[in-house]
Amino acid sequence: NNKKPTNFIKQIIDEDLASGRFDRVHTRFPPEPNGYLHIGHAKSICLNFGLAEEYNGKCNLRFDDTNPLKEDQEYIDAIIEDVRWLGFDWEDRLFYASDYFEKMYEYAVQLIKMGKAYVDDLSAEEIKEYRGTLTKPGKESPYRNRSVEENLDLFERMRKGEFKDGEKVLRAKIDMQSGNLNMRDPVMYRIIHASHPRTGNQWCIYPMYDWAHGLEDSIEGITHSICTLEFEDHRPLYDWFLDQLGVFHPRQIEFARLNLTYTVMSKRKLLRLVQEGYVSGWDDPRMPTISGLRRRGYTPEAIRDFADRIGVAKSNSVVDFALLEHCLREDLNKRAERRMVVLNPLKVIIENYPEDQVEELEAENNPEDPEAGTRKVPFSKIIYIEREDFREEAPKKWFRLAPGKEVRLKHAYYITCQKVIKDENGQVVELRCTYDPQSRGGWTQDGRKVKGTLHWVSAEHAVPVEIRLYEQLFLKEDPEDVEEGQDFTANINPNSLTVIKNALAEPDLKKAKAGQRYQFLRQGYFCADLKDHSAEHLVFNRTVTLRDSWAK
Ligand code: ATP
Ligand code: MG
Ligand code: MG
Repeated sequence: NNKKPTNFIKQIIDEDLASGRFDRVHTRFPPEPNGYLHIGHAKSICLNFGLAEEYNGKCNLRFDDTNPLKEDQEYIDAIIEDVRWLGFDWEDRLFYASDYFEKMYEYAVQLIKMGKAYVDDLSAEEIKEYRGTLTKPGKESPYRNRSVEENLDLFERMRKGEFKDGEKVLRAKIDMQSGNLNMRDPVMYRIIHASHPRTGNQWCIYPMYDWAHGLEDSIEGITHSICTLEFEDHRPLYDWFLDQLGVFHPRQIEFARLNLTYTVMSKRKLLRLVQEGYVSGWDDPRMPTISGLRRRGYTPEAIRDFADRIGVAKSNSVVDFALLEHCLREDLNKRAERRMVVLNPLKVIIENYPEDQVEELEAENNPEDPEAGTRKVPFSKIIYIEREDFREEAPKKWFRLAPGKEVRLKHAYYITCQKVIKDENGQVVELRCTYDPQSRGGWTQDGRKVKGTLHWVSAEHAVPVEIRLYEQLFLKEDPEDVEEGQDFTANINPNSLTVIKNALAEPDLKKAKAGQRYQFLRQGYFCADLKDHSAEHLVFNRTVTLRDSWAK
């Protein structure tokens, strides 16, 4: 049942199934609701849900909501929407770590009774100081040898709210000389008098990640707990807690997190971009968030394909953003219908075309997909072409329009430029052309060669549209490559958004629905904006440019 190529995680799973350590596969995607999901999370989502699918197992969606100071219902809602949009289904397995707080508390009491946990009065700074470093031995806290009775009493009073934030913590009693700093009596609980999005004021002690995460996995019967590489050094602790308690013991497996060129990926940094106004919100089309990519016009299929192609590895690397765009183009090329939009219009009058005539020309919607059918595009005496498609002084290999030159208008006729009209400043304001009535549909019987093909719109029928052209948000491949004293915001691209207010589109685009994706001929792939687009005000985001300049 393993359709996709193997990888080191699947090898581990196969071994576990063969040895009988597990007889099923159950994974989870465990976001902390302290921000929106980004493309890195998408990798983890595709991996976890994908493995469950391949092995006929299950995957839970679990909110790791253990820190009330940073978490919010808005994030919970957005995460649910994003995972679903990516195309994954957790069925009835939506869980919250906060639902296990009571159970975790009981397990902590159990550790205290075993003499494996103690209440410490040292401050956070002191704990850090006492912990030592890899070269400096740790020092035991003076409170380390409190009696079990005293620890039970103090821990209960911590829970009851008798102490202020930071006054006490519960720590595991492991080994202050361990070569692994995570094992030097890690903190299990801290006091935070803050309201939690789900448990309200029921709790004022909150579990730390290392303590909570393994328990969450164990309680849910997770077999393979897949996390990113920075947790490799935490695995001994993950194992220690579960071994001490003698509970169901999932296997933690670490893989390399996704890093992308021109992109920052931590929620903390993305939050700064939002809060400091560099972008319009978490779903700004320049953001690497799933909601930003969606608004930009990415498809879930392209993101899943990308996740498959990058695979999983055991060492960190940076993936070229171009690969993500490649996956996107491949998908959009297959299903985005073609339309004509002129971004920077130049008026063309076809002198020998009958004054009041309008022709409805047949245009194929997608040459890659015959099923996509055709549409009618109106043609008349006055049209607009792209200003960049005309040069008065044309270079040698100029196949577009120039005085005396002939070009093809896509789906329409050949035209030849006869005259250039300028204003008093010498600006070209209008072209006078003639057309060849025999060239309807874009070819002639004599088979003469006309290389250039331009997109165009009929002046009388065109509809104004707003176009938003996006570039990378950062100027450098590595946004963290900065001078001393600067941070990644120093590399922000000041020109990452260009708004064109009055582009002109063929009239069919009046029918575009928010979120609908198109290829605008020779310009790229575009998507009707999910927030600002309406029938009265058409707004399109450039999703991605075309790979090559359009040649047909
Ligand atoms: P960030 O550092 O961006 O805040 P996080 O790891 O703190 O991310 P979580 O909400 O804890 O965010 O992440 C949920 C899951 O997504 C975790 O299992 C985590 O390992 C995984 N994940 C987060 N970032 C990436 C990434 N860049 N590549 C792959 N997986 C990731
Ligand atoms: Mg995390
Ligand atoms: Mg985090």
